[in-house]
Amino acid sequence: TLDFHPAGRHFLQIPGPSPVPDRILRAMSYPTIDHRGPEFGALGLKVLSGIQKIFKTTQPVIIYPASGTGAWEAALSNTLSPGDHVLMYETGHFATLWKKMAEALGLKPEFLGLPGIEGWRRGVQADMIEARLRDDKNHSIKAVCVVHNETSTGVTSNIAAVRKAIDAAGHPALLLVDTISGLASADYRHDEWGVDVTVSGSQKGLMLPPGISFNAVSQKAIEASKTAKLPRAFWGWGEIIEMNKTGYWPYTPNTNLLYALHESIEMILGEGLDNVFARHQRLAAACRAAVQAWGLEVQCADAAVYSPVLTGVMTPEGVDADVVRKVIYERFNMSLGAALGKMKGRMFRIGHLGEANDLTLMATLAGCEMGLKLAGIKLAGSGVTAAMESLATNEQQAPRLK
Ligand code: PLP
Repeated sequence: TLDFHPAGRHFLQIPGPSPVPDRILRAMSYPTIDHRGPEFGALGLKVLSGIQKIFKTTQPVIIYPASGTGAWEAALSNTLSPGDHVLMYETGHFATLWKKMAEALGLKPEFLGLPGIEGWRRGVQADMIEARLRDDKNHSIKAVCVVHNETSTGVTSNIAAVRKAIDAAGHPALLLVDTISGLASADYRHDEWGVDVTVSGSQKGLMLPPGISFNAVSQKAIEASKTAKLPRAFWGWGEIIEMNKTGYWPYTPNTNLLYALHESIEMILGEGLDNVFARHQRLAAACRAAVQAWGLEVQCADAAVYSPVLTGVMTPEGVDADVVRKVIYERFNMSLGAALGKMKGRMFRIGHLGEANDLTLMATLAGCEMGLKLAGIKLAGSGVTAAMESLATNEQQAPRLK
């Protein structure tokens, strides 16, 4: 516990949970109502249709009162059967956790990817998926699972290219995509990209606290769920989709988080999805300019798939990134994302998602720059200045009060 209250707000700059806007916090404080009453049904219908616009789908989106991990399990358990062979792609720590879950559920995941750290610096190589599926002559692979925005590294993947790869191989496997940290920050198109199940969560681009998560589905996924044999009860889509038709759930939903979701959808659609994506891209570019000016390396090694959500910053050889994060936390009351799995201690992650704007990014980068110096790291130059220059260069895309 803190024995004093530090001045100002805690600066939460991890790549989710992202800071929750005051508007959303206020919406959450409305009284909890009867989840079988008429007022609730109206709220349910509004959020269920609103969230479809965010996923860019006209098909059902299931909302669970659970963290993203629950929605991962729902995606697998609704569509697959014990012993099913699934092709998963290693982009980083979260892809690895999803694969572990598949094993725990009794599936047979095959992990595809580039060797070592290399695979954690680039997105999904769709040609590897295509080649593997072409080899699978008797269609033993039932699903392809990929992470759209790998939160552990700051690398996105081209989902349209994965769809094309599956089609080019003429393979019937389902396409399951995790965009837990991508949704409402990075462009995402569930229907257009032919995704069968998209998994997402509340605490990233949607700017909500943790606690609800999503499965956007396709008709093909719904058909698969009718014969899939993995045990499921709480996660089962059938009854939820049926009751959702009138705005209700088979159990007690997370009412106050649904108020928050309603507010979030209003904010995002009010700004316009394309404007939201452009704002994230502009901030991410400025963040990378800072990293480059410091003389440090961005974790993502492929400019085509830089994440608009977060930037992974590699610390120089021999510098423990967790020590840098600790200095920054203790001195500036700012949280940065830790390195996970294979990257442990070798990088930190800067979140620039949700309600992030020019000034929150600049404050974050100032905290990083001061903290890196306090940690004794010799910087090549000022990242803060470079970021301001980058923002000015992209001034045309800057949002403006009217
Ligand atoms: N997948 C990705 C890409 C994530 O970023 C996260 C959480 O950060 C998860 C899955 C797990 O979600 P949760 O922690 O909400 O269960």
